[in-house]
Amino acid sequence: MSKLKIAELFYSIQGEGRYMGVPSVFLRTFGCNFKCAGFGMPRGELSNEAELIDPVNYTDYKSLPLVSTGCDSYASWDPRFRHLSPLLSTDAIVDGIMDMLPYKEWKDEHLVITGGEPLLGWQRAYPDLLDHPKMAGLKEITFETNGTQPLDDSFKRYLHTWAYHHDKEYLREITFSVSAKLPGSGESWSDAIRPEVVYEYEEYGHTYLKLVIATEQDLIDAERAVEEYRKAGFEGPVYVMPVGGVERVYNLNNRAVAEMAMRKGWRYSDRLQVPLFKNEWGT
Ligand code: SF4
Repeated sequence: MSKLKIAELFYSIQGEGRYMGVPSVFLRTFGCNFKCAGFGMPRGELSNEAELIDPVNYTDYKSLPLVSTGCDSYASWDPRFRHLSPLLSTDAIVDGIMDMLPYKEWKDEHLVITGGEPLLGWQRAYPDLLDHPKMAGLKEITFETNGTQPLDDSFKRYLHTWAYHHDKEYLREITFSVSAKLPGSGESWSDAIRPEVVYEYEEYGHTYLKLVIATEQDLIDAERAVEEYRKAGFEGPVYVMPVGGVERVYNLNNRAVAEMAMRKGWRYSDRLQVPLFKNEWGT
């Protein structure tokens, strides 16, 4: 039986992207290859807001402070917070999931596997998790990824069994929601913009880009990135989404981003978790 280090497991409404508004179980794996300390900062500066939070003061995610700059899910990858993320067997995770579903079985809910970066090292565990007999009623799964991690050969073979075995009981819709990190995140272009990786996801599931925009410079970067993804053959939709893990920041630029989306013919993604739940941990 496989194990996964789980930062959070919770039931909420998907606030972003293709499944916005859909009741969803969120499985947040621990670990990320990025820090994204540039979010919400002047270009070229990095946030140290999360670094100032002392992990010894916290024993669970719910009590952790929210940050207005840098990665809003900092505790899901920062090693200083690893004590908050247990290593759980797939059986234990499935039991936790079934317990939080409103009818104790899958109906219209959707599973979001997020992070951190969920395709970093955990790909080998997903077949055990998703083939568990209690998960048979699950029909829709989204991997929320930063789009830098190639799919392992064995995971590709596994995903193909869903794509091509149209056995009604197990037919599943897989989505890759790729939040590629533009330079405003603080990550370098060459590390973060990996068109060849994202192009490959399209063979295994519905794949779209979801780009976080705060400024006109971000829009210029987004245009350049989309051009590179298109050159590599990527055909999926592009969403733009306002920056802002806290309401004050989100409210500053959501309308401007919606107008950018209209100008470019791209899709707008809200962050419903901010107005609905103040983006608290566990929402
Ligand atoms: S890729 Fe996502 S989880 Fe990782 S540091 Fe960036 S925003 Fe945070």
